[in-house]
Amino acid sequence: MLTQAMTVANCGNYIVPVSGYRTGKEQHDLYTDSLRENGTEFTQKFVALPGCSEHQTGLAIDLAENTPDIDFICPHFPYTGICQIFREKSVRYGFIERYPAGCEQLTHIAQEPWHFRYVGYSHSELMREKQLTLEEYTDYLKRFPYNGIHLQFQLAKRSFEICYVPVLSDKLVHVEIPDKTLYQISGNNVDGFVVTLWRNPV
Ligand SMILES: [Zn+2]
Repeated sequence: MLTQAMTVANCGNYIVPVSGYRTGKEQHDLYTDSLRENGTEFTQKFVALPGCSEHQTGLAIDLAENTPDIDFICPHFPYTGICQIFREKSVRYGFIERYPAGCEQLTHIAQEPWHFRYVGYSHSELMREKQLTLEEYTDYLKRFPYNGIHLQFQLAKRSFEICYVPVLSDKLVHVEIPDKTLYQISGNNVDGFVVTLWRNPV
């Protein structure tokens, strides 16, 4: 998906990946190295504690404008030119800018223009349209429980249906998926999972 998004945005060599999946040990080393080199204030602002980094999920990527001196922790990824084109087009491929300005109270992470998170299409498109962070979007989807009215909408000539399935401890959960329907089930990292149905083209 990342390759497709970069191809569609004509990124060529102008944008390069800086950091993707990290193991717990790599995050630990990054954190302690940054503490030593950059101090506590900077590290707490820009480097997640080991065990708390999205990079450990394999769903996050830091990107940089390809310049001679790329900062590994805070790569330059401006809101202009090819970087902005990627930012806009990558939504179609399921990516969001994860830590936008003004949302620090919700995400608890400082603005990171370079950090993208794969949330999947159509979630990325809905989040952009409604201007929601992942935290807000996770809460928003709880309005559409599996046993209630599902969220239904059309995007790019497809019909989508989304619902939230709470997981109560030690209870087995059954979800029925209609025949011949493309679907995805994703944990919401909080208290349940999200079912996405890709209906037939409209
Ligand atoms: Zn990152």
